[in-house]
Amino acid sequence: MTPVPVSPYDDVAPESQALFARGKAVTPGGVNSPVRAFLSVGGTPRFMASGRGPYITDADGRDYLDLVCSWGPMILGHAHPDVVETVREAATRGFSFGTPGIGEVLLAEEIVSRVPAAEQVRLVSSGTEATMSAIRLARGFTGRAKVVKFAGCYHGHVDSLLAAAGSGLATFALPDTPGVTGAQAHDTIVLPYNDIAAVEAAFAEHGDEIAVVITEASAANMGVIAPRDGFNAELARIAQAHGALLVVDEVMTGFRVARGGWLELEAREDSSWTPDLVTFGKVMGGGLPAAAFGGRADVMAHLAPAGPVYQAGTLAGNPIAAACGLATLRACTPELYPRLDATAAKVGRLVSEALTAEGVVHSLSTAGNLFSVFFSAEAPRDYDEARTQEAFRYAAFFHAMLDRGVYLPPSAYEAWFVSGSHDDTALDRLVDALPEAAKAAASAHPDVAKDFA
Ligand SMILES: *Cc1c(COP(=O)(O)O)cnc(C)c1O
Repeated sequence: MTPVPVSPYDDVAPESQALFARGKAVTPGGVNSPVRAFLSVGGTPRFMASGRGPYITDADGRDYLDLVCSWGPMILGHAHPDVVETVREAATRGFSFGTPGIGEVLLAEEIVSRVPAAEQVRLVSSGTEATMSAIRLARGFTGRAKVVKFAGCYHGHVDSLLAAAGSGLATFALPDTPGVTGAQAHDTIVLPYNDIAAVEAAFAEHGDEIAVVITEASAANMGVIAPRDGFNAELARIAQAHGALLVVDEVMTGFRVARGGWLELEAREDSSWTPDLVTFGKVMGGGLPAAAFGGRADVMAHLAPAGPVYQAGTLAGNPIAAACGLATLRACTPELYPRLDATAAKVGRLVSEALTAEGVVHSLSTAGNLFSVFFSAEAPRDYDEARTQEAFRYAAFFHAMLDRGVYLPPSAYEAWFVSGSHDDTALDRLVDALPEAAKAAASAHPDVAKDFA
């Protein structure tokens, strides 16, 4: 059996350690999604057994204030009673039929009613499927091949979108991972985020070959980096002027930063533009696998069976996932969002005050109620700037928080998430944990992080 890795942060979590060892025997790296393995912070990942409201409980029976919220979906907190009851009822009616059903129509109607840019939607099972299908549809619709994406933006593990390296002007991307061929990455152009001049240059050179520009509604997978004012609008203008489509990826931001997602926040300031396609996931499934892509009705009409671009899914629109997603969205009332905003602002302020008290150089980067802490003086504007932070401080900070019952994202390059259940009592746990964690960040040493990176 593979030995448990030795890290300066291994504390007592015997059940998680045993499960990690068993997991490693049957699953590569012991986990089913890489960031869960704690590679960038070291130590043993905690295997969770249950969750309720803002807390999650691991296999050793220790509970944590959860600031990951399953990377976004648990916007109401864990095991929300109304959602649990809806899912229980749905389960008694059968799990899957492989036919159209009632729940998927209701869920699609809910999404379309919240997001004007989504005139029609197609339901799928993951955010990856949503962006993959949106790219295929855009290529089928335009008859063009090239895709523009931004360095540091994550759109799931779609082959052509895993080329994120090599920022710089119209750099033709090299694949980021073995298994993605040069051919798959060849039609991907990677540009620096927030850099309109780079987008204009790429279109000047390849304008009639570019099918689609894809961008996160607000970048949040290299840490949170909001688009500059007008960046998304400019993308729409440039792409559409050249006959290309704009895909706004709202998998993380959708239904989280506002009832109608990031697009609603932007439309309040400037409603003169709209993307051609939008992708959704995370919150819309409420913790079960459900995602979607949608957009202009004339573009969506190219999708099978209405049109020629093929796309399908055995479990797409699954009745239980659709019921869970619909119950979650219905509970995401207009009153919820100001509460999430206030909670997120409070968490950010508490963290910032604690770090400041220990003289730790940092910046709080926000986009609506999404936020992350960078160990750099200035909030970054793109991926290159994001990577200049002192990420080694994060591991020490993370483990000091974990030891005190606060669960943060196990990477310095992820957003933090709150839910409607994160009340003042829950945040007391954070208040208690922060002083020591800030001290740990202050005294962190770069070499320690290298031991397990
Ligand atoms: C999480 C995420 C995805 C991928 O979704 P999965 O359900 O993990 O496949 C795509 N785009 C963005 C912006 C995301 O945050």
